[in-house]
Amino acid sequence: MNRKEFLQTSLMGAAAVAATTTGAGLLTSCAPKNNTPLRISFQEGTAPGKTLEEKFDYMENLGIVGFEPGGWNLANRVNEFQQALSGRNIKISAICAGFSGFLLAEDPAVKAQFDSTMRDIIAAAGELGSTGVIMVPVFNHQKPCLPHTLETRQYLCEQMYELGEYALKHNTTVILEPLNRREAHYMRQVADAAAIARDSKSAGVKCMGDFWHMSEETSDYAALMAAGSKYLQHVHIASRGTRQMPGENGELDNYVDGFRALKEMNYPYYVSFECGCAGEREVVLPAAVELMRNQWEMA
Ligand code: MG
Repeated sequence: MNRKEFLQTSLMGAAAVAATTTGAGLLTSCAPKNNTPLRISFQEGTAPGKTLEEKFDYMENLGIVGFEPGGWNLANRVNEFQQALSGRNIKISAICAGFSGFLLAEDPAVKAQFDSTMRDIIAAAGELGSTGVIMVPVFNHQKPCLPHTLETRQYLCEQMYELGEYALKHNTTVILEPLNRREAHYMRQVADAAAIARDSKSAGVKCMGDFWHMSEETSDYAALMAAGSKYLQHVHIASRGTRQMPGENGELDNYVDGFRALKEMNYPYYVSFECGCAGEREVVLPAAVELMRNQWEMA
């Protein structure tokens, strides 16, 4: 190839690149808007009201479509929840823990407590159509626990496999929740929980992100994307300075980056309130919902 031919080829290449870039730009600007809906869920203590009826009426008025009760005594509350939710546009989003004992207990009696209570909760969660049961393998204060070694991780994966398969039989899942280092050093990041779910080798083992604990992450977007649609089954939200209602910590309460990840993966599950409330609930709760919807729109 002589110099003239080379220049011609290069120019053609450059033109082709320019055309492609312009085409891609046009495609992006004409791409359909991402219509993934934001499905908001409340825990039992989130909405004002003395009874479930009052709480669900309040939630329906705000367009809240998910409900996340605690797992304690769940088997005895299945009928109560089914009746209260009948005919409403609210579904059980997830079940928040509620078991006794813990999975990584050194004491076999404490482990056995976990095994039986967790299985009871999983079975009830299945009856309620829950996406899963949230669990933490061990909190910092739970002792004595197995040492944090390779063998313990392998043991955790084997135990999670058993739980995951049991959950699948009941048409639900188990959802690993990473916490921050002050509460649980064992599993602190969403990607770590997702890797444990993967290594458990059961489709019934999933993970979640909690915007409060995600202060451990360098990027909300990367953290949620690392779990992706294969493993991410639930999300918790709170204000990011003091764990109150979203918006109660002002500028800190930015969820746009994380919401963008959820929209890009067409996240089909729930973003559920798990937080306290510093202000007047009737004022800050609707404001929190509005803030989330605005940021979802921006994401
Ligand atoms: Mg949480």
